[in-house]
Amino acid sequence: MATAKEPSFRESVDLMFNRAVALMDLPPGLEEKIRVCNATYTVRFGVRLRGQIHTFTGYRSVHSEHMEPVKGGIRFAMSVNQDEVEALAALMTYKCALVEAPFGGSKGGLRIDPREWDENELERITRRFAYELIKRDLINPSQNVPAPDMGTGEREMAWIADQYKRMNTTDINSRACVTGKPVNAGGIQGRTEATGRGVQYALQEFFRHPEDIKAAGLSGTLDGKKVIIQGLGNVGYHAAKFLSEEDGCKITAIIERDGALISDTGLDVEAVRNWIAKHDGVNGYPEGKYIKEGAKALELECDILIPAAMEGVINISNAANVKAPLIIEAANGPITAGADEILREKGCVIIPDMYANAGGVTVSYFEWVKNLSHIRFGRMGRRQEESRHQLLVDELEQLSADKELGWTLTPGFKQKYLRGAGELELVRSGLDDTMRAAYQSMREVWHGREDTHDLRTAAYLVSIGKVAASYRALGL
Ligand code: GLU
Repeated sequence: MATAKEPSFRESVDLMFNRAVALMDLPPGLEEKIRVCNATYTVRFGVRLRGQIHTFTGYRSVHSEHMEPVKGGIRFAMSVNQDEVEALAALMTYKCALVEAPFGGSKGGLRIDPREWDENELERITRRFAYELIKRDLINPSQNVPAPDMGTGEREMAWIADQYKRMNTTDINSRACVTGKPVNAGGIQGRTEATGRGVQYALQEFFRHPEDIKAAGLSGTLDGKKVIIQGLGNVGYHAAKFLSEEDGCKITAIIERDGALISDTGLDVEAVRNWIAKHDGVNGYPEGKYIKEGAKALELECDILIPAAMEGVINISNAANVKAPLIIEAANGPITAGADEILREKGCVIIPDMYANAGGVTVSYFEWVKNLSHIRFGRMGRRQEESRHQLLVDELEQLSADKELGWTLTPGFKQKYLRGAGELELVRSGLDDTMRAAYQSMREVWHGREDTHDLRTAAYLVSIGKVAASYRALGL
């Protein structure tokens, strides 16, 4: 974790913002308006549990309302505090602008260790927290739309959606008050995997650009690359799973709460995940080497390092020892401002959080649109698409029946070509397109401006430019 000399998380985000904004020509008033967090609401509420009243502290921070609703997850963790929630809300503003999700930035948090409470208790606590936010319009389909974050998932989102519905019985759009819900409660296919899937798409896009691969001192494709994953939660698990199963990456280390597993031949992500679920940690896993001091594995040789858990894990105390030539920030803020400087000087390429983990909010955007349109993506067009494809396949089959031509359809072509896109395919296609377009907007600035030498500064330049344009359009 960050040492005393390190700035706070919010200061760290502001430092990175300042570094980028110094290269822009914004009026100083507008610069300040974009940087500051508009408002943070703190609530303390009591819930009677286990025969006594327990008081919980929660936050919802709104960083920027240049677009509404504002968007961002709700985190359940003991480390939650105002500074952290404000830093995360700011990152949401920049993230949404970068991937063109039409939202301002917000974030929420509840100081709680979810592992200490059973499901029924958690439901009562979550509903009570949601009640406090809903009655102040800090959860509302047109003003503020939360989503899952660390320590929360679709279960909590379903409780929040239901709580909102109970308090707004005539709101036809009530389901759009929160995203990341289970599919059978108004969610969308592909939301749970979305952030990890986005990390995979981001890396695939990076490896389409030889100049960028070279900048990181790497070569070739994703196939065979040695990858270290820190945190096998929802984001890290999906990223590691897709990269190893679909792109040929080798997961050479997995870092978890109780230590790290190391294996040069590559770890089986699914098996490690199952082990953690049963044993509450990686210790004892039969393959690879276990080390107790997990953070040391951040310093191992690899091609790609993926911090996918907490902020500040790469800081001024360990940055100099990190050997990865390419780091992709699947978590929010895993590299502090000080560490960022050390790594940049070493020539490490960092794919920044506001881009790398934007897959979650991108698919949240699709879910919100689905809820407002009250129809599943693909429902109108799928069979029409299939019948048009059938016409073409029929013609091709006639050709292949002609023995003289000596031509046949490739095995499997027909099935693949005939299947129209359902919701999951459309969500993945929209996410892939978003990740490609956002990467290209960053790299244009990275390579196109003489004063910009890294992707993070480029990302800030693109997103601050977009937020500034919105404010100008509002007459500010
Ligand atoms: N908590 C996620 C993030 O940090 C998702 C936010 C959302 O979907 O609104 O990006």
